[in-house]
Order: sequence, then structure tokens, then C-alpha cells
Amino acid sequence: MNDFDFLRAAIEMARQGMRNNEGGPFGAVIVKDGVIIGRGNNRVTSTNDPTAHAEVVAIREACKQLNSFQLDGCVLYTSCEPCPMCLGAIYWARPDRIVYACSKTDAAAIGFDDDFIYKELDLPLPARKIPANQALEEEGRQVFKEWAEKGDKTVY
Ligand SMILES: [Zn+2]
Repeated sequence: MNDFDFLRAAIEMARQGMRNNEGGPFGAVIVKDGVIIGRGNNRVTSTNDPTAHAEVVAIREACKQLNSFQLDGCVLYTSCEPCPMCLGAIYWARPDRIVYACSKTDAAAIGFDDDFIYKELDLPLPARKIPANQALEEEGRQVFKEWAEKGDKTVY
């Protein structure tokens, strides 16, 4: 099995998920040492979960499989270039690399345009479509202070 084979497995997840009406036409697999340890397809509409993108579903399964919150030594294959949410999740999970088939331009052409999120990132928080306003900063920091001093934490 090479990159093309695993990428085809991700594309097949996209096809099957779409045909089963589980969600949009997106699929992903995660591979470690030549073995698929996580699979996912988009399940947003069938599970009422806006975070159930293929990559996130696959990351959850792979991490469960490895009993780890990191995907060291893994490769993530996805049928489409990851959206900003998935890209964030991928960076937190830290696989070694990503291989994708369709581009975000291809996705935009069929109605899945995530470009607005990238544009939002350049705006100040209160000016965004979903405004974010800060409050109770000091009270929030108390928990951070406790974390910073906590002796029995799992650092990641
Ligand atoms: Zn996504």
C-alpha cells in the first residue's frame, strides 16, 4: 500500500458516506506503519454534529486506537484539502504529514466554501461575523495560574 492506495481509501470513504446520506462528500483515513488506524467520513447532517468532518472523525478513531492524544508517526489522507477547523485539529493531533486529493477551490465549486473563515481570521475579534468580546479576564486567569502551578498535569 502506498500514498495513492491510502488516498483512494479516503476517497472511497467520501463516496460511501455521501451515498449513505451521512453527510457531505468528504472522507479521510489515518495510517501508521502501513496500517489504517482511523477512518472517517463527513457525518455532519446525519449526527447533527457540525464538527463531524471526515478528518475529525478519523482523528478521534485513530487516537482511540492508539490510546494517545497524539498521532506521532501517522499520515492523514483526506479526499479534500482540510478546512480551517480540521487543519487546527490536525495540528493539535500532530501527524507527520497530510496527503489530499481535491483542493479547497474544488470544494468551493460545489458549495463548500470555507474561504470566509480564513478572511475572518484577519479581522479584529469584535468585527467578525460572530463577534467575540472579552470579559472577566482576571477571573479566567485564576484557572490558568492554577494550571501553571499544578504538579500532576499531563503536558501536551
Ligand atoms: Zn473540516
